[in-house]
Amino acid sequence: MKDCIFCRIVAGQIPSEIVHDDDQALAFQDINPQAPIHLLIIPKRHIDRLSSVTDQEQALAGYLLHLASRLAREKGIADEGFRLVVNSGPKAGQTVFHLHIHLMGGRMFDWPPG
Ligand code: 5GP
Ligand code: ZN
Repeated sequence: MKDCIFCRIVAGQIPSEIVHDDDQALAFQDINPQAPIHLLIIPKRHIDRLSSVTDQEQALAGYLLHLASRLAREKGIADEGFRLVVNSGPKAGQTVFHLHIHLMGGRMFDWPPG
């Protein structure tokens, strides 16, 4: 999608610190990290938000979740714990309308979230 920041990152038109790249997904450092480790895990294909995922895309959604868990292990934060966040829609605070999972770790997280 032409005007989507994350599609432009996938296309290599905007630089990012990529930590994982495969045929379905990309993971890169968040530009404004909210934790010592803060990665964004995205599908390469443009999907607006979690609630836009179709029945045909459910394997991709599962893949992204599993990739988040793999990256947490690779970053060494799986045992101590980490936080995954998916903001879906404006009221949840979604600002980039290309589906992404926030993977955050390296500090304590409060519950309930703000
Ligand atoms: P949201 O609020 O939509 O859940 O999260 C969007 C995230 O994307 C934010 O944490 C923000 O810092 C990050 N972000 C926005 N623009 C860019 C960018 O150009 N590059 C990177 N690496 N992250 C970005
Ligand atoms: Zn996009």
